[in-house]
Amino acid sequence: MLVAIDGPAGAGKSTVARAVARALGFTYLDTGAMYRCVALARLRQPQGDLAALRIEVGELVLLDGEDVTGAIREPDVTAHASHVAADPAVRAAMVERQRALFADGDWVAEGRDIGTVVAPAAELKIYLDASDEERARRRAEQTGRPVDEVLAEQRDRDARDRERAASPLHAAADAHVIDTTGLSLEEVVERIAARAKELQSA
Ligand code: C5P
Repeated sequence: MLVAIDGPAGAGKSTVARAVARALGFTYLDTGAMYRCVALARLRQPQGDLAALRIEVGELVLLDGEDVTGAIREPDVTAHASHVAADPAVRAAMVERQRALFADGDWVAEGRDIGTVVAPAAELKIYLDASDEERARRRAEQTGRPVDEVLAEQRDRDARDRERAASPLHAAADAHVIDTTGLSLEEVVERIAARAKELQSA
């Protein structure tokens, strides 16, 4: 079974997806970390071979064996990730890797295009959203950076993710849209896990 969780930056996808995976005993995959690895690799070596990159995303994120768990969260990598993610060749390579993983076992995967492109047949599709201000406030709290700075960067990144030609961010027609503004993490996780369990026992 695959639970696909898509949505814009700061909607709570990572926290929710991790907790849902734990509640269900499924494996969690952060597909954004894969695009972040490509961005880091390109910043270091612009002409590097994409197919040769070894990307392992688990508790730790490894790029060619190096622990880059912290490095891929740096602001320059974050901004660059949404640029490399607009490249159709990068998307095709990441989608292929993600589909290969999902072929085996039960997964909760978060990203921008899981329910629309990577796995349109996913059993459960969730689109998490929240107001711009709420999303920026959460990120600012996590990172200790000023809210207005985070909000400006988030608007740029959202625009690139929503307006790109290749797999733009949008909710799948059959996704459950959950606006997390004002909802607690527990409420959101509970709702998704309960729905997944209903589907499992159906
Ligand atoms: O989710 P996260 O913010 O870590 O993702 C980093 C960037 O990777 C996003 O801004 C987006 O451009 C890209 N991404 C994507 N498709 C995914 C996951 C992430 O395009 N499935």
